Amino acid sequence: MKKNLFFIIIILSIFCKAQINSFSFTINGTAPAGFTTALNIAGQKWSNYLQITVPVKVNVFIVNASFLPFSAITFANGRKNFTNATFANILYTTPLANQLAGVETNPGEYDMDIYFNLYTSYYFGTGKPPASQTDFISTAMHEIGHGLGFYSDGFVDNSGKGSFGNIPSSTFPIATSFPWRGQDSVPGIFDKYMVKTSGNHLTTCAPQNSSALGDSLKNGPLYFSGPLYANASHSNTPIRLSGGAGTFTIGVDLLHIHQSYANTIMSYYWGAGDTVRIPASWELGILKEIGWNLKPVGIRENTNNDFAYAYPNPANETANIVGQNIKTIKVFNALGEMILCKENALNKEMLTVETESLSEGIYFLKVSFNNTLQETTRRIIVQH
Ligand SMILES: [Zn+2]
Repeated sequence: MKKNLFFIIIILSIFCKAQINSFSFTINGTAPAGFTTALNIAGQKWSNYLQITVPVKVNVFIVNASFLPFSAITFANGRKNFTNATFANILYTTPLANQLAGVETNPGEYDMDIYFNLYTSYYFGTGKPPASQTDFISTAMHEIGHGLGFYSDGFVDNSGKGSFGNIPSSTFPIATSFPWRGQDSVPGIFDKYMVKTSGNHLTTCAPQNSSALGDSLKNGPLYFSGPLYANASHSNTPIRLSGGAGTFTIGVDLLHIHQSYANTIMSYYWGAGDTVRIPASWELGILKEIGWNLKPVGIRENTNNDFAYAYPNPANETANIVGQNIKTIKVFNALGEMILCKENALNKEMLTVETESLSEGIYFLKVSFNNTLQETTRRIIVQH
């Protein structure tokens, strides 16, 4: 019984934490219907995994331009050598710098500028997008993910010389709202873990502004190798990054997970018609490796991509069940009798179970999913 109570308290505390949205969004431009809600859901989803006590300030620009070569792009602010920095002379994106420092290291500046190009046909709902549309929640999670730390200061110039922390702002078609930090002359925290197949670190094995570093950045597979958490989240092997195919493209290579990785927010594997709204275990592993603390729910979701949770708990009139790929929800009473069965024909991420007419007590929700035979059981209490 004590154990059950403990379990209920854990579920409750997850719910309470999940309600704090740690992101503030400033929106520039005219937001289409559903845009702001979907953006906040994306922030909320990251908030469910990461301990964020210093709010993340996101500057959002809505554009609609066929000539801009992106559907969305993020510019991340950065700081080095701040209080509690885990490494000296390493650039951290400011959401992480602020979290480690415990205070804002960049007052008056945004943590990231994100541009969304509405020339891309976005789906702003929470269900499954049609095959022709790009899921906005997944896209926003991807872009925010760059600002949280999936960010590289690696660069190869036109003469083939490679560097870290020497990205000219002229590389981009747009200026940042904060002073550009790509020229802080130091590698980013993400770069610090970048290795070649040999295991050699790119930040230590070739001099700055050298052709040797340029060659290493352009040619051959690149990996994120995190000895503490990242590799452990990925069958004890380094995680392959984008790039290394003989050329270098700024904003495409290095800072993404390789396009061969499915169910990965920060990869190019997914496209129109797909959703990726739950970080892969190796994405959480990378974030933990670079310095983020994860919430318990993050670790829990880590092992099961179809994790579902219920709130409020105790429930009075209704209980909401949130999760991806939910197929059915069956409600059982304490005697094991099924009293309700709900099908998720529209593939929604949140289903509501009416509990108003149920007598007070403990109930069990059995949740089945579309892509696994494994069922998840959740316990709820009904209290009027
Ligand atoms: Zn990206």
